[in-house]
Order: sequence, then structure tokens, then C-alpha cells
Amino acid sequence: MNDLGKLSINQLTTREQWSLEQAVDGYARAGVGAMAVWWEKLREVGAGRGAKIVRDAGMRVTGYCVAGQMTAKAGAAWRAQIDENKRMIDEAVALGSTCVVAIGGGLDDGSKDITCARQRTLEGLAELVPYARQARMRIALEPLHPMVCATRSVLCTLQQANDWCDGLAADDIMGIALDTYNVWWDPKLEQEIERAAGRIVAYHVSDWLADTKDLRFDRGMPGDGVIDFKRLRQWVERTGYTGHHEVEILSSRWWAEDPVHVVDVVKQRYASVM
Ligand code: ZN
Repeated sequence: MNDLGKLSINQLTTREQWSLEQAVDGYARAGVGAMAVWWEKLREVGAGRGAKIVRDAGMRVTGYCVAGQMTAKAGAAWRAQIDENKRMIDEAVALGSTCVVAIGGGLDDGSKDITCARQRTLEGLAELVPYARQARMRIALEPLHPMVCATRSVLCTLQQANDWCDGLAADDIMGIALDTYNVWWDPKLEQEIERAAGRIVAYHVSDWLADTKDLRFDRGMPGDGVIDFKRLRQWVERTGYTGHHEVEILSSRWWAEDPVHVVDVVKQRYASVM
């Protein structure tokens, strides 16, 4: 049985029901003291005001999502992506977030050059390192499931995230966000988690439904799918990770539910399954 102290909820879990203010209030009422913030929800109320709402509620922020995505080939477009990432870093600082979460980005429009996309993202990250370091904001690389490689993230495996961290040689500022939904299938998972020791700055939790119906918006509530959370958690904690367990459920099914009920189920599953 887990106490609530380490539970965090990514606000995407109640994306369709609650604004930032409502989510902060709803989670706090349920006794959940930590959350991850989604950029569109923050900017909806204005970054300054949004950050104040979160801080005034005493809410811990376990991640600001989602940065990265610097795969543009053309110079000006790529530069704009870098600037957007710097803005995300500034907003993460205002929120007092543990990290800004970065995904790989999909292929540039019309491009079939995945090697170039990966190279561009890596170059972008290298540019961001000094900026993030000055802001004292950790960048957490989140590999996404390969099924969304074309559109969302050319960073697909934990091994790749570890390799990128090695290549960037900036372990003071680069870290990894491990998301169970994205990596559970990986035959090298245990060894790559071990390799990521000291780098894991966020642990995202949702389940893989055996008969999943959507590439992005059919994540399962922990316990409803096929992931062995107890084993994964053991591997993650063996690396020395003591941070929050952030439930992140992008799901059309759960978005149709009463958000108070959703948060309640998250708490139950956190206590019994995770
Ligand atoms: Zn995630």
C-alpha cells in the first residue's frame, strides 16, 4: 500500500475536463500534492498567472510538457523550434518544475530522412544545454513508443535516450523521463534502466491495453492492461530513483468521465497496483 506522498498526476489525465486552475484545485482536494503541467493549459491562462496558481496552491510540479521536437531541416524553422524550447525552459522555471520533458519530434513535413531528424534534434539539445544550465532546469528526454515515431518522436527507446545523454555529456542538466507506456515492451528495458541510473528524473505511469485502439489517446489506467508495474518500479527504484510516480493517462475513454471520479480511481490504483 503506497501513501499519497509520492503520487503526481499529469494534467493531461484530465485534459478535456479541467482547466489548469480546476486541475490544481481538483488534485489538491483529493490530497494529491504534485502534478505535471501541460504547456497549452498553462498558456491558456498566461504563463505568469498559471505559475502563480500552481505555486499558491503549494503544488509540486514534477514536469512541464512537452518540449523537444527540433527536427526541422530549414534553418529558420529550426531556429524557431529552439526559441520555443527556450520559452518552455523559462516557463518550467516559473513553475518551479523538476524538469522540462522533451520528446524527439516527428519527421519534418514531407521528409523521409529519419537520420537527419535525429541529428537535428541532437543538435538542438546541444544548443539548449547551456541555456538550461544557466536556468538550472533539467531537460528530461522521454522516448516515446515507436508507433508514433513518424509524427511525435524519433527518439523511441531508452537505449537511444541513454546514448543521446552519453553523447551530450551533460549529465548535470540532461536526464531521462521514463514512461511505462512507452518502454514496457523493450527487451533491453532492465539493462537500460540500470544504465540510466542517476539520470531518471521523472517516472510516468499508465498501462498498455492489450487491445489498444488508438496511437495516442487510448492509454490504460494502471491495472487495466498488461504492464507489470511492481517489477518496473523495482528496476527504477534500484537505480536510486526516489521521485514521484506521475500518472499520465491520455485517453478518450477517461476524458469522458467525471474528473473527480478519474482522480479517485488514480488514487486507488496507485495504492494497489503501482
Ligand atoms: Zn510521459
